[in-house]
Amino acid sequence: MKLIRVQAGVYAVNCYIIYCEEKREGIIVDPGGDVDDILEFVKENDLDIKYLVLTHGHGDHIGGLKGLKEALDAKIAIHEADVEMLKDGNKNLSSQMLMGKVEVEPDIILKEGDIIEFGNEKAKVIHTPGHTLGGICLVIQDNIITGDTLFAGSIGRSDLYGGDFDTLIKSIKDKLMIYPDETKIFPGHGSPSTIGRERRGNPFLSNIQY
Ligand SMILES: [Zn+2]
Ligand SMILES: [Zn+2]
Repeated sequence: MKLIRVQAGVYAVNCYIIYCEEKREGIIVDPGGDVDDILEFVKENDLDIKYLVLTHGHGDHIGGLKGLKEALDAKIAIHEADVEMLKDGNKNLSSQMLMGKVEVEPDIILKEGDIIEFGNEKAKVIHTPGHTLGGICLVIQDNIITGDTLFAGSIGRSDLYGGDFDTLIKSIKDKLMIYPDETKIFPGHGSPSTIGRERRGNPFLSNIQY
């Protein structure tokens, strides 16, 4: 399994290209933009991208969806509770952002426990609401794509549409902190980290008893 980080779009969101090296099948998570660069990588590495998976519906994570879907014929997947956001430029905030209004119809509706398969790899969907209603994290081997739920040293905002601080903390505690310390995390913004480093050093999690 290979995991490549591309800082995509005007907001430099972490877009991840994840693929099975043997079967050359992959997924792209949170394509915020920079469609041409992503397509070049896909072509150079001879990849068949099956799905465009969204950790949530916010504008900074979805700007490259239309271009990639057209070019790659891949299916757009998002959690059921964020579908309304993806389809509404006001709810996904893109109408107020630099890339302009983005409204997209999903192909696949995800829920807790779903498995997304590509090549020999499997990504497990964990529903982690709190930043948005339908925020998800993806577990692939000992890696977790955490979207805007958990960052290195911080957590996502909970003051936007669908957000709730207590729900976010509960999601992180119940759904992410159950993984071993050495599990790597790949957030939607900023640097990678590990579950252990965040368990010990993340100021938002320090008052939680494990
Ligand atoms: Zn967000
Ligand atoms: Zn974001």
